[in-house]
Amino acid sequence: MPGKATSSFFSMTQPPLNQLVPAYIRGFEAYIPSKPDPELMKLYGCSRIFRLNNNENPLGPPPAARRIIKDFIPFKASIYPSGDAYYLRTRLAERFGFHPDQFIVGNGANEVIAFVIKAFCQEGDNIITADKTFAVYEWVAEFSGFEAQLVPLKGFGFDDAAMLERINERTKILFVCNPNNPTGSYWPEERLRNFLDRIDGRQIVVVDEAYFEFLDQPDYPDGMKLIADYPNLVVFRTFSKMYGLAGLRIGYLAGSMDVVDIIRRTCVVYSVNVVAQEAALAALDDPEHILKTRALIREEKAFVTRELDAMGIPYVSGEANFMMIKLPISDTLAYRKMMKKGVMIRSMTGFRYPNYIRLTLHTHEAMEAFVAALREVVT
Ligand SMILES: *Cc1c(COP(=O)(O)O)cnc(C)c1O
Repeated sequence: MPGKATSSFFSMTQPPLNQLVPAYIRGFEAYIPSKPDPELMKLYGCSRIFRLNNNENPLGPPPAARRIIKDFIPFKASIYPSGDAYYLRTRLAERFGFHPDQFIVGNGANEVIAFVIKAFCQEGDNIITADKTFAVYEWVAEFSGFEAQLVPLKGFGFDDAAMLERINERTKILFVCNPNNPTGSYWPEERLRNFLDRIDGRQIVVVDEAYFEFLDQPDYPDGMKLIADYPNLVVFRTFSKMYGLAGLRIGYLAGSMDVVDIIRRTCVVYSVNVVAQEAALAALDDPEHILKTRALIREEKAFVTRELDAMGIPYVSGEANFMMIKLPISDTLAYRKMMKKGVMIRSMTGFRYPNYIRLTLHTHEAMEAFVAALREVVT
């Protein structure tokens, strides 16, 4: 319940509170997540909502993970989980041929972003990433007091040459989202290797592979296989997208022993709950679930692009389970109009792409609802 504003300690002491707050926090705006479905349904007057804004897997978790969740023994909720996801790291180590200590599991990949930045940046340092990419790298850097240098995308992809030019003596980390959220572009293996060769170990390079399992192009690089050649490379993966476990919050990073040993010093133990650890372990071995999901995405993407072509609406069709669409009207207006029809898309003004929306590819029912809502909104 949102309480009535009490006689506030803070308002009575406003000048002192302000003095407590670093300038980089004072100027930082909090991210406001969307409200729960029942609230949104009341607000927009719709009777159900297709959430097409967060790139979740419409097929949900694989069956083995579902069984783990369903059979969870309630008493175990009173026991702390493994503090460092021991069994999951052991399993990941077998799969990738690494040592278990080359992994750090976090409360979503979002949490491990903060681990890396805290481990390497100090006052005056900076990180480099793109202007139109997953925003959390930039946010964590900035609310921690470090500069985020944002290099403009080139033709919807990360601009390697411009990123290399931006490096200065205070640059600690370069973040590359591969494939990029929201544009779906990716660097092929040769391009990523060239980039890493040019960096030559002087900075940490993070390759965020949140959508790795959606890609099947032969030239798409598997970051895990590059770690042996590039000990300054850190790879992110998550269970939120392909594995359908976004609600349990679990993701991880991998890197060379030396680098992960440094990053581990900034980790908060016990941040990953026991159900998430067990479900993730069970989710790992289901190639069929991955193939089914890929097939669904492929079909629905073909359906949506056909419809967009027919309406003459331009789009950016890259990899993974989402696409970017350019509207002839304001994206924030389109968001509100589509919400009234029970279709929730991501408006892209906040990603510095005004008039664009990002659509999660989903079930046919949801895609038909989206197309119908879009048609009404733009005509
Ligand atoms: C979704 C996403 C993540 C983070 O996912 P978590 O749910 O925190 O594991 C990281 N990077 C990109 C590019 C994403 O799209």
